[in-house]
Amino acid sequence: MSSDRIVQELRWDPVLGEWVMVSNVRELRPWHPEGFCPFCPGTPETGHGWDVLILNNKYPILSEEPPKLRPHKFFKNAPSYGKNYIVVETPKHDLDDLSDLTVEEIRKVITYVIDKYIEELSDKRSVYFLYFRNKGKEVGVSLTHPHSQIYVLPFIPTKVRRELTNALNHFKRYGRCLFCDLIDAEVSDKERIILKSSHWIAFIPYYAHWPFEVHIYPLKHINTLNQVNEVMAEDLAYVLKKVLCGVKNIFENPMPYTMVLHQAPMRGHYSYYHLHIEIYGMYRTSGRLKYAAGVESGAGNFTYDDTPEEAASILRDTIERKCVIQ
Ligand SMILES: [Zn+2]
Ligand SMILES: [Zn+2]
Ligand SMILES: [Zn+2]
Repeated sequence: MSSDRIVQELRWDPVLGEWVMVSNVRELRPWHPEGFCPFCPGTPETGHGWDVLILNNKYPILSEEPPKLRPHKFFKNAPSYGKNYIVVETPKHDLDDLSDLTVEEIRKVITYVIDKYIEELSDKRSVYFLYFRNKGKEVGVSLTHPHSQIYVLPFIPTKVRRELTNALNHFKRYGRCLFCDLIDAEVSDKERIILKSSHWIAFIPYYAHWPFEVHIYPLKHINTLNQVNEVMAEDLAYVLKKVLCGVKNIFENPMPYTMVLHQAPMRGHYSYYHLHIEIYGMYRTSGRLKYAAGVESGAGNFTYDDTPEEAASILRDTIERKCVIQ
């Protein structure tokens, strides 16, 4: 784009009823010499002597001081107030994935993210704490040093908003948590369960969208990250290591995936909501990516080749063969 004007704002899509985050700040991304990693220890920003590091994203899509809005006579926009953080998960550049860290190292990453959530709660302008991880060049990851991201958003993300609506409807109708009920259904069916620990359960849901889509739920009904206690965090580290190791090793090439944490918004009353993690493993077969193409992008509905039951059996088998944790 040739315009000199910095645009960093939310634009409302009145047709679908959702926000789009618009920013041209990322285009100022400087050129780095070949082999330079901004997440490795020893740069001015990273320093030395850490296990996990949370950095400000230098080229954010949101800002703590967003530029002045240019109002539109028809369309609605809003300041893109928010924060973008990078969670550098380890000082070790050459590890491939979160699952290559030890359980204790993963526990530390989780604890740092929980602490950041608690810290961000005091900022009254923040509405939603979105933690996610992209893995693989196929999903646009240019820096391979293991890292995940946090977006502190000024709005509730669309997907979570839909989940909240359906969870509230279920609660009003049956007086129970939608997610607790679906966990019960998965437990009773058994065939899509990947693993169950003392505090968490992982399964490929009955209605999976992506080829290897794993959902991880705490067995206890909790809404937000600050309710994940130390014992639960340690147990989650173990579950994540196993599940992500399995997802990575299903095919010859490591599986590209996106992992996202869904929790209740930071303010308001959402006791009917149940925190969970969703992982979308994107290979259909070795090296063949499932694209969100015509039907998915154009219609918003997924097609699923094969069945979630078969995918669960393949993933369980991979974990058993390749993911033994001492
Ligand atoms: Zn590095
Ligand atoms: Zn629940
Ligand atoms: Zn969800």
